[in-house]
Amino acid sequence: MNVYLDNNATTIVAPQVFIEMEPYFVQKYGNPNSLHAYASDTHPGLKTAMEKIYAGINAPTEDSVVITACATESNNWVLKSIYFQQILNGDKDHIIVSEVEHPSVLSTVKFLENLGCKVTYLPINNEGIIEADNLSDMITDKTAIVSIMWANNETGAIFPIDEISQICKEKNVLFHTDATQAVGKIVVDLQSLNVDYLTFSAHKFHGPKGVGALYIKKGKELIPLLHGGAQMDGYRSGTLNVAAIVGMGKAMEMAAEAVESKKMDEVRRLRDEFEDNLLQIADTFVVTPREIRTPNTILISFRGVEGESMLWDLNRAGIAASTGSACASEDLESNPVMEAIGAEADLAHTAIRFSLSRYTTQEEIDYTLKAVNSAVLRLRGISSSYAYSPPESIDTGKENNGHR
Ligand code: PMP
Repeated sequence: MNVYLDNNATTIVAPQVFIEMEPYFVQKYGNPNSLHAYASDTHPGLKTAMEKIYAGINAPTEDSVVITACATESNNWVLKSIYFQQILNGDKDHIIVSEVEHPSVLSTVKFLENLGCKVTYLPINNEGIIEADNLSDMITDKTAIVSIMWANNETGAIFPIDEISQICKEKNVLFHTDATQAVGKIVVDLQSLNVDYLTFSAHKFHGPKGVGALYIKKGKELIPLLHGGAQMDGYRSGTLNVAAIVGMGKAMEMAAEAVESKKMDEVRRLRDEFEDNLLQIADTFVVTPREIRTPNTILISFRGVEGESMLWDLNRAGIAASTGSACASEDLESNPVMEAIGAEADLAHTAIRFSLSRYTTQEEIDYTLKAVNSAVLRLRGISSSYAYSPPESIDTGKENNGHR
């Protein structure tokens, strides 16, 4: 059996999304900016897709949603643009991010730090959560922007974006949130929050790869990312990738429906059941309480079981999971969030992330549970650091250590 439980890295393209995209490769392939029927053939599809994208995040129509190639691009653009506008050519010198942002934010601010910008890293607590009160004290009159992710890719922890956005508004500081792991999983309603910029990416919610977006609130304009033919309101020139935009629109519509229709509650039920069973294994820890996590994610540590060894066993059983951000997982480094919460070194290397989707089935979860139990037994049995006496049955562990 093959089981894909790495949906925070990327997701399967929904069949309906694929079907909607297809005509834009071979029939309606015109450049939307040209002046003939091939161009105008693309306009209705593009318009509908953009309407679905706005609706999916409840963005006011006067605001901009600029299509980019990915969340990495959106994150780079907003931070580098603010650097140009407010730091290099303004009187600010300071950016605040959380210490567990995705590398597309952390590497960008490191780059800006080398150019002279000051960066403050907001810590997470031992449950993997940001404490918004700490943010208030960090903001100064030199702070140009605060960039805090909506949901963490490793733990699924949902950060208090409402509170953070309120603080930024009161302090008159720009606020960007990387919502790549939130959009399509939980309600994202831009009319009920004070967010200036928001990043997301289609391939995290069953859309195609290579297409993402940056939401920009009216009055908070950025400098263009790509100068040229002035597509995307002049923000990002270059011929539009119509098929990808149509795909993102359909994927957004389906994801929003799943969140509203409680289909995501079924994902949560499956995740919770899986987690309860995993926690029956002795010496296991989950980082963030499930009530404040996205419904699909578990970051779990099995003491004495090297994460990479576990992945190897699972992969042989046809199961895909992860030990850390996909971009860094070939480095054999410990999980960055485990490090940030101050986990002991032997635990930091044992984290495994399971991320489900609305296509995950009960049968797949049951199969995975058995495979994890066998892997833990085998790997603890050969571990030099773990003194382990196997339980009588692999299904009934002795201790349930619960959450960290
Ligand atoms: N931000 C977060 C929180 C992510 O999880 C990811 C993908 N792992 C990214 C940004 C980058 O997304 P993309 O692949 O679309 O560049």
